[in-house]
Amino acid sequence: MSPTIPKLIGAIEGGGTKFVCAVGTDALNISHSTTIPTTTPQETLQKCLDFFLPFKKDLISLGIGCFGPIDLKPTSPTYGHILNTPKKHWSQSDVVGYFSRKLGVPIAWDTDVNAAALGEWEHGAGQNCNPLVYITVGTGVGGAVIVQGDPIHGALHPEMGHILIPQDPSDDFPGICPFHGNCLEGLASGTAIAERWKKPGQKLSVNPEVWELEATYLAHAVLNLSMILSPERIILGGGVMQQTHLHQLVHQKYLHLSQNYALSAINRAENYLSAPFLGNRAGICGVMVLASRLNC
Ligand code: ZN
Repeated sequence: MSPTIPKLIGAIEGGGTKFVCAVGTDALNISHSTTIPTTTPQETLQKCLDFFLPFKKDLISLGIGCFGPIDLKPTSPTYGHILNTPKKHWSQSDVVGYFSRKLGVPIAWDTDVNAAALGEWEHGAGQNCNPLVYITVGTGVGGAVIVQGDPIHGALHPEMGHILIPQDPSDDFPGICPFHGNCLEGLASGTAIAERWKKPGQKLSVNPEVWELEATYLAHAVLNLSMILSPERIILGGGVMQQTHLHQLVHQKYLHLSQNYALSAINRAENYLSAPFLGNRAGICGVMVLASRLNC
């Protein structure tokens, strides 16, 4: 008797610079994966498909976590599409429709940030936290909220990078957001750091004024989100947060800004602000979780 081959789950983490594709039996058992550069939808989606085709007969579901903004409303005529994005060529791409037609399996669809947050909630630093807030500070700034194990979608999906925070009086940088100038992403993303200080963040590790200002902005965001959502943990990840001293600095500034108002012991504890546990695997892990939920 031949052994039963376990059914496979597929996952795509679609980002602005690369698409990661994976298959496995569950989020913690990925057997194959590949990385494909983000060029045009025609080219990138075709290469993703080429990765999955050899597994097609055993594939029972596919998850896709994609850069936004995307249409998550199942009743919408453009469900599964990328909406108007500054990313060239990708506006109105029907990502879900493409894989649904080519692979014929049920597809779970969410933002890349929601997927990463879900990965951390299920298998990482956000386990048993309700709600959990996840913020990623990289080229841009993104954020997600997990309530009782599900990412909040709402009317579209949260875009926490674009909240408005007070600009520090010492900082006359106009900000880099093409929509709002000095929103959180405009002031505190990796792109903003590089433009303000004329060097990428990795080359500014020894300049304390850079990280004082960065921590001030992130602390405002943390305080605002704490007051709105009363989360049990906020995970701060992304390339900029690899300056690991930032976590403590943000925590100190957040406590100072809050003046101890309406904070529980959880919100005051040092591990209230946490680094991601899964690192750059959070996204693909969360997409696997989304896809496996389709089979329950
Ligand atoms: Zn903005």
